[in-house]
Amino acid sequence: MNIALIAHNGKKDDMVALATEFAPLLRQHTLMATGTTGGRLQADAGLAVERLLSGPLGGDLQIGARLSTGLVDAVIFLRDPMTSQPHEPDINALVRACDVHNVPCATNVATARLLLAEWARG
Ligand code: PGA
Repeated sequence: MNIALIAHNGKKDDMVALATEFAPLLRQHTLMATGTTGGRLQADAGLAVERLLSGPLGGDLQIGARLSTGLVDAVIFLRDPMTSQPHEPDINALVRACDVHNVPCATNVATARLLLAEWARG
């Protein structure tokens, strides 16, 4: 599967912890991430990740465009609901694209863990 990973700044440590826990599973898939999230996943979780633009510079839109053409199979998008984001329209566009194309989109750690645990079961 092609899996996209995004975490807002307040959630990046959670993303690293999640990705580290599920690293053996994630290594079996093709990973892409927004710029800063991808950097953290490479450096702190030891994962091979394609880094796209940073979210505020269009990374969410890049993922949304790929997703809309069938190139993304799942999204783990750890949003920070307590912090307003300058690229809120892009965030909404990506989540909408997930719903339009029926692509799984986990927006918090609890849901992400359910998805990952399900994939781990095969
Ligand atoms: P970042 O982008 O991984 O480059 O921080 C995520 C976001 O803010 O949407």
